[in-house]
Amino acid sequence: MLIVMKFGGTSVGSAERIAHAAKLAVDSAEQGHQVVVVTSAMSGVTNTLVDAAREASTGNWDPQVRQQLFDRHKAVADTLVGGSPQLHAAVVDTLWRRLDRFEKLCFGLSLVHDLTPRLLDAISGTGEMLAAPLLSAAINARGRVSHPHDATDLIVTTDHFGAAEPLAAETRAKARAVLLPAVERGEIPVVTGFIGATPDGVLTTLGRGGSDYSGSIIGAALDATEVWIWTDVDGVMTANPSEVPEARTLSEISYSEAAELAYYGAKVLHYKTILPAFRQRIPVRILNSFNPSHPGTRVSVDGDPSVGGVKAVTSIRKLTLVTISGTGMQGIPGIVAKAFEVVADEGANVLMISQASSENNICFTINESDAPRVIKALHTALEMELTRGHIEEIDGEASVAIVAAIGDRMRGKPGIAATVFGAFGAEGINVMAISQGSSERNISVVVAERDAAAAVRALHRAFGLEKAS
Ligand code: ADP
Ligand code: ASP
Ligand code: MG
Repeated sequence: MLIVMKFGGTSVGSAERIAHAAKLAVDSAEQGHQVVVVTSAMSGVTNTLVDAAREASTGNWDPQVRQQLFDRHKAVADTLVGGSPQLHAAVVDTLWRRLDRFEKLCFGLSLVHDLTPRLLDAISGTGEMLAAPLLSAAINARGRVSHPHDATDLIVTTDHFGAAEPLAAETRAKARAVLLPAVERGEIPVVTGFIGATPDGVLTTLGRGGSDYSGSIIGAALDATEVWIWTDVDGVMTANPSEVPEARTLSEISYSEAAELAYYGAKVLHYKTILPAFRQRIPVRILNSFNPSHPGTRVSVDGDPSVGGVKAVTSIRKLTLVTISGTGMQGIPGIVAKAFEVVADEGANVLMISQASSENNICFTINESDAPRVIKALHTALEMELTRGHIEEIDGEASVAIVAAIGDRMRGKPGIAATVFGAFGAEGINVMAISQGSSERNISVVVAERDAAAAVRALHRAFGLEKAS
């Protein structure tokens, strides 16, 4: 069996955690599996890099940041491979060179004050390039040959900096050429998550939290038997356990449920993770590196058919609800098309759309950070309709959240919407908009952000998700 295993930031957050991740990889190899590892940056490192880039772009480059990053990673190398002088020297040299590059980029940025998405990727991708040599060294220290690999040589992407998309054929060719001979030799290669490169070799990132996606991309490229996502909770749960303490692990979910959950805010999986694995029907497991004997969650074609109705509740915050309204909108074709053209031109992602059947208003949610731009552009594009009175108002309500109830088998099950409204009514939570896709896999409700936590808990309780099914 060929297993691609991805370790998240907390799973490689310290020398002890890296040693443990190495043990998990080596244990699987010892059971006779071929193993390819994909690693995130150590916890908190990507945030530090992004903050450093933002500071540098205002002219403030603080060389202390480089020193702190070096100290943290070198201390890990000291602990993990201090007893093997050659390996230790090689790892420390790699850390030094990578941080040198980071410093040069930040220094240049502090002079030109222009933080382009391309430059932000070059800087923020450094964290994985520091973590991979450490995890690889820890695997070597356990007696298995391992080399770190920069995904810039393996994952070929578009030049959409900050949210690059893999080019499947090119990635497949490169990843197979490098990684398959390595696993054939019994090695455990360690690949940097989160990053890739354009066909010209310019570093890109797949978006925040994107190492999960890297795991799935590499898994698909290698035709892996399974993709394992090692994280810090016992799999995909009925809700975010830090928000709902009584949340339970879902032992099996379908690809579509996993994709829906991830898209609607379950941070445990990057929202694009499922697609590459799904295309090839590669099972994905979500496992807890802090509790490895727990079976976690398996993502498969059918999920668990014995569980009906709502399976999980998610939330996404920091959204704005944009409403375009006017009694004159009725029967005027093209307003909706025009509005969404504007949203697309501004590069904003629409998370939910709802239109009353009266056609007197249409509303949709976008990220708060996109809202000022989108609303301004809507006013410009719909100026004529506003002047003529077909549209009375274009309004943006900030600080809202989407709370979603998700499950494949909600379809055809009556009473789900009634339960949602009943639960919110009992808690005094005001519903600002509601949407249900025709797939009936998801009911999404917009509420004020301050009500989001209560809304998630209310739905979790109302659907009895704390009880074993
Ligand atoms: P990693 O660093 O391993 O990638 P993340 O922090 O990105 O880990 O994702 C794991 C976190 O996702 C959990 O600690 C948990 O707080 C959060 N989370 C949100 N929703 C869910 C859910 N439905 N099930 C499990 N975890 C969830
Ligand atoms: N290190 C990256 C981030 O923090 C990617 C990841 O961890 O998945 O966003
Ligand atoms: Mg993550």
